[in-house]
Amino acid sequence: MAVRRDKHEQRKQELSLFGKDLVRRCSAQCEMCGDSGVPLSIFEIPPVANEPEFERCAMFCDTCQEQINQPKRRDNNHWRCLNAAIWSEVAIVKALAVVMLEKVAQQEEWAKDLQEQVYLQEGEQALIDQITPELK
Ligand SMILES: [Zn+2]
Repeated sequence: MAVRRDKHEQRKQELSLFGKDLVRRCSAQCEMCGDSGVPLSIFEIPPVANEPEFERCAMFCDTCQEQINQPKRRDNNHWRCLNAAIWSEVAIVKALAVVMLEKVAQQEEWAKDLQEQVYLQEGEQALIDQITPELK
């Protein structure tokens, strides 16, 4: 157990190196839902590599993180935030938004409509293909 905990701590420490840059990038808003005034923490978008990568990290609120990790707790209404998130200038956030939209669109008409607006730049489909099998 102790080893595991150390690993977790070590990871947190490595990630904290990105903290300052991520805080600047997100300007105190969840990079997924745009909420401000809520606690934000670093979320590593899967698949997670051995070495933490800045390009795969984002600052998300607890609600977003919980609902990404636990689909059973997903409240589709919360994911109306995808309206904005699919236009994110942060490639990994945008890619994750498109993957989440795909999931919500299986249940919601509005999400299907929104899917028609998704406009991918070069390289973004590859990110989406990496993330898709990782999320439940
Ligand atoms: Zn959020």
